[in-house]
Formats: sequence, structure tokens, C-alpha cells
Amino acid sequence: MRILFATSEAAPLIKTGGLADVSGALPAALRKIGIDCRVLLPGYAVIMYKLEATRQIARFDQFLDAAGKPLAARLLQSAIPGSDVPLYVLDAPAAFARDGGPYQDAEGLDYPDNAHRFALLSQVAALLAGPASPIDWQPDLLHCNDWQTGLAPAYLRLSGGTTPSVITVHNLAYQGIFPPSALAKLNLPASSFSIEGVEYYGNLSFLKAGLYYASHITTVSPTYAMEIQQPHLGMGMQGLLAGRRQQLSGILNGIDTDEWNPAADRHLNCEFNARAMAGKKRCKQLLQEELGLEPLDDAPLFGMIARMAHQKGLDLVLAVADGIIDRGGQIALLGTGEKSIEAAVRVLVERHPGKVAALIGYDEGLSHRIEAGSDMFLMPSLFEPCGLNQMYSLRYGSVPIVHATGGLRDTVEDGVTGFVFHQPTAHALWLAIERAFELYPHRPAWKKMMTAGMTRDFSWENSARAYQTLYQGLLPTEV
Ligand code: ADP
Repeated sequence: MRILFATSEAAPLIKTGGLADVSGALPAALRKIGIDCRVLLPGYAVIMYKLEATRQIARFDQFLDAAGKPLAARLLQSAIPGSDVPLYVLDAPAAFARDGGPYQDAEGLDYPDNAHRFALLSQVAALLAGPASPIDWQPDLLHCNDWQTGLAPAYLRLSGGTTPSVITVHNLAYQGIFPPSALAKLNLPASSFSIEGVEYYGNLSFLKAGLYYASHITTVSPTYAMEIQQPHLGMGMQGLLAGRRQQLSGILNGIDTDEWNPAADRHLNCEFNARAMAGKKRCKQLLQEELGLEPLDDAPLFGMIARMAHQKGLDLVLAVADGIIDRGGQIALLGTGEKSIEAAVRVLVERHPGKVAALIGYDEGLSHRIEAGSDMFLMPSLFEPCGLNQMYSLRYGSVPIVHATGGLRDTVEDGVTGFVFHQPTAHALWLAIERAFELYPHRPAWKKMMTAGMTRDFSWENSARAYQTLYQGLLPTEV
């Protein structure tokens, strides 16, 4: 089976969010189970010098730039560094060789020609998947991701291509919305600007186009696939998604089990595993020392690592923090983001020296040490398409306390591997925390819960097999 995986970012080459992690890991996991998956990525300036052994395999002379002049573009073949995943790079310097990030300039402003840039990427994805491909490798299926490649299923279908396509929604909040005037430069027929097409509340939406034209839609957890059909989490797309529910499913992301392995973690000096847990106690001592927390072995230590954004439920944590301290607990926080949340966290730390510690910033090593050294992990997100930290927590024996939403609901089992609460309120969070406080002193029961989480399998292989089944079902005949 041959899959073309079109994406706008892929770790380790270029990353702004979770899409890059998935694009870096899933194609490799698919290849391990025998699927010939190849990645298509734009040739951003920052990735070109990281590529090895590139060779030109096609030249395109049919595209125009945003000003209507001929655009130089070619396709290079390379590989994702450190892997065996073949990589096709769309080298079109006028569109992608820029100083800033993939979507924004150095000042953080969206590039004014983003519609044109990602329509170009989408056109090339569709071309490679269709009958007029200039290269001799023909995919059986095109897998697109988020709004940046959302137009590809539209180009494919509108040009008469019959190759099936999948679009995965990693973040429904980014919808690739542009004014209707953008349409003229995107090689789309005027008739496609309709509710049965790329139109979205009077504008053009790349994501909506993908959701409308793709053969199948996936999102990154089964629960989130249900939730986005409802008004409160559907972000305006709920009608379309509910209408396509027969072609919508959720497949959980995996985690990098080499990078996140408590038995061999380059960020720890206190390795442990489900059968030899002594190192976990040492990890807690070291974390308390590192963060200036009182060296109390039996004080339940609550960890939290998150972007400090409203989505992550920090205000709920701030509301219950005094209660945690009153009951003899400690809190270790790591995150950065909205200034008002950061300020509230600083005030909390000042109120409870030695009991609450926070690092406002991004620190990968500390994120591993918090997972390893904490007893419980707080993740009261208001919504969570998949979530990674709760899976890291399970693997590191830090019992997660989570809101029953999205991927959190699909990965944490209440009373077995963690504590799950059902309303996104401080009161509901507090009741779950009280249950954790009650169980914690009962060491055999607590250890049983830790071990149950530590032995769950969240490897990419499971996800890859689920995608394989999905692909098989979409192909006209078994490949
Ligand atoms: P989201 O993608 O919504 O931010 P996830 O839980 O899916 O949430 O993934 C967040 C990832 O970013 C995790 O790998 C987490 O450990 C990491 N992370 C977030 N904030 C920080 C931080 N301040 N320092 C280190 N790692 C962080």
C-alpha cells in the first residue's frame, strides 16, 4: 500500500505544534508495518540546509505566483533525517524561502499570501496523487492534515481524480479562512464557492474544503470525533461534521516511547519501571530539591505541564491549589503562555513558599523530571483533541487527574489508571483530587493504580495499525 502524507510541518525538520510530532512519527510507524508512506513538505528556507542527498525529480511550470507571474517550482526527493521515510520537498523559493516561521514572519504576522502558498502545496499534493503525476511513484491514497493541505482533496476531486483521500484534524481552531477574493488566484472553479464546496459563512475555508471533499475525516481521538459534531466544541464546523459522521472517526495519537521511557531517560538520574519502582522515590526527592520544595517524602506531589492557555484549565487549578496545600500536598508547575495566567501562578507560588513551585518557561528536561518525580498529574483541560502529557504521566507512574474530554477520556480509566471528573468546574476537579488524597496513603492500592497506567501501551504501532485498517477500507480493492 502506498500513502502520500501531505503536511506543512514534520519533526525534526520544522515544528510549531502537535502536527509536526504526528508527521514525524506516524509515517515511520506505517513503514514499519509494511506501508510505503512518503511525506510531502514545503521547502522552507530553514529545512533546506538540513536535507541530505536531495535530487530533483520533477519541475513544474504551470503555477503562477500571487502577482500572476510564472512561479519557479520543482520537486526534490530526500528523506526525513534520522529515518527511512522518503520525503518529497516542494521547492518553490518565492513561496517558501522566507526568514520567519512556516506561517508567520519574524514579527509574528501571518504572511499575506498564505492562501496562495498553501494552495500551491495542496495543488502539488493533488497532482502527485492524481493521473497526471510527473513522477513514477503513484500513491493509492492521499492523507492530508489540517487546513494547510485542506484544499488538496478539492483539487483532486475537481480535476476528476479518483484516488481516495483522508484529512486529519489536529486542531479544529485553525480553519484557514480567507476572503472570497482569494479564490480567483487559486485555480479553483467559481462554482466551487458554494455551501457544497469551499465556501464557509461567506468566506473561503481551506479546512472546510478538506472536510467536504475528502473521502474520510479523522481526528486524533475517538471522543473528540464525537465532540466536534456538537455546537460547544464544533467551532462552527459541527453541521458539516455531523452530516459526515459516517465518514468521520477518531484514531488516538501515539507517544514516542523511546524519548519517554522512565527506564532509560537521558533527563533523569533515577530510572525506574513498573517492576522496580525505587527510582521513582529518588526522582521525587531530586525534583523537590531542584524546585526548592520541602523534602517531604509522604506529601503528595501534584505535577502540571501545560501551555498556559484557557483551554488547559489553569483557572480550575488555581481555584483548588490552596485546598491541595491545606491537605498537605505540594504542586510543581511548568508552562508558559498567557501573561495573566503566568501572573496568577507567580502569586500562588509567593503565597506558598516551599509548597508550590513554578517554572514559567519552556524546559524539556524539567518536563521529564516533573513526570518522573510527581505522584499525581493535573490535566483539567476544557477540551483536548488528544493530549500527550496524560500518556507520559501514565507511563511515568504519575497518576493523572483529568477532565473527561477528548483524548483524556479515551486514555485514562477512572479508578483504574487515574481519576476522571465530568464537569469542567473547580468543584468537580476538587472532588477528584480528594479521591486521590484518600487513596494515596493506601500504598498497595496506589501502587496497583500506578502499575496499571505504566503498563498501558500508547506506542505509535497501535495508531499505525488503526490507520492501516482505515486506509484498507477506503481503497477500491485490497492493495
Ligand atoms: P498541546 O499540544 O495542546 O500543547 P499536548 O499535551 O498534546 O498539549 O502536548 C504538549 C507537549 O508540549 C507535551 O509534550 C508537553 O510536555 C510539552 N510542553 C508544553 N509546555 C511545556 C513547557 N513549558 N516546557 C516543556 N514542555 C512543554
